Amino acid sequence: MSTCAWMYHNGRIVPYEQAQVHAFSGAVKYGAGVFEGLRGYWNEESGELWIFRLREHLERLRFGMRALRLDAVFETDELERAMIALARANELRENTHFRMIAYIEGDDELAGTGPVGLVAGAVKRPPSARVETGIHVGISSWQRIADNALPPRVKCTANYINNRAAELEARAAGYDGVLMLTADGKLSEGSGACLFLVRDGRLVTPDKGSDILESITRDTIMTLARDELGLEVVERRVDRTELLLAEEAFLCGSGQEVLPVISVARQAVGTGAPGPLTRALQNAYFDLVCGRTAHHADWRTPVWGGR
Ligand code: PMP
Repeated sequence: MSTCAWMYHNGRIVPYEQAQVHAFSGAVKYGAGVFEGLRGYWNEESGELWIFRLREHLERLRFGMRALRLDAVFETDELERAMIALARANELRENTHFRMIAYIEGDDELAGTGPVGLVAGAVKRPPSARVETGIHVGISSWQRIADNALPPRVKCTANYINNRAAELEARAAGYDGVLMLTADGKLSEGSGACLFLVRDGRLVTPDKGSDILESITRDTIMTLARDELGLEVVERRVDRTELLLAEEAFLCGSGQEVLPVISVARQAVGTGAPGPLTRALQNAYFDLVCGRTAHHADWRTPVWGGR
């Protein structure tokens, strides 16, 4: 993440340099923290920066804190206002990426639950060119972490050592991205995004028992597919060989948006180019997040509110 002029830290908007943590904190010693990444989309016509599904991200952060038994430190309403204040402090009138982390600031040994720090930053982030071109992915030799070990449903910072290993391995092999498998060899998810396939015109995605993060974008895509495109959506266990039978595949996440997967392990998916349903879902997604449709206005939080 590049830097921003102003950060949110423990209830205050502070200069970037002041958002610090001790080197012996639980966050550094054990990776004891949970985080969220989300986006805001600038709409030139309405002069508004729309934060997408902010409440759902804050609620997932609270769930993660509960799962890690971190001491509670914020109210959702209060943090919602803080994120708006952060975007305003950084004068963001362009596409933005927000990151927030709740972490153990204290230096207790393993079982400490606080004090808990809360930090957030917001930086401009233009759309990725890969959304247009699609990506080539490999299948990782690293197994996806399991719910009874390091639960992927909890967006814990320590979990991401698993994703990082997969991503580094894939990049060393010349791929743009990676898919991970569960302990029993079923498709799970990417390193920071969930997977969808198109099979016989239906959307298929690994179910919530497939060691995935319960992705907010995955939920958005399923809603758009059903409500806007009239598609059937199936959540189930998915075999890796289904990638060879799929007409299309894509990854989705707040950061990665809707990213066509055009080959897996150097074998083309479908025609080897982004497919028509992926394109239709991309269009519906960007119309939604940018506020170019009235659909689900409740999912967009305005930063400027006419200011
Ligand atoms: N899976 C993983 C492992 C992720 O890190 C992310 C990004 N948060 C996603 C899926 C997508 O989740 P979301 O749509 O909520 O951003």
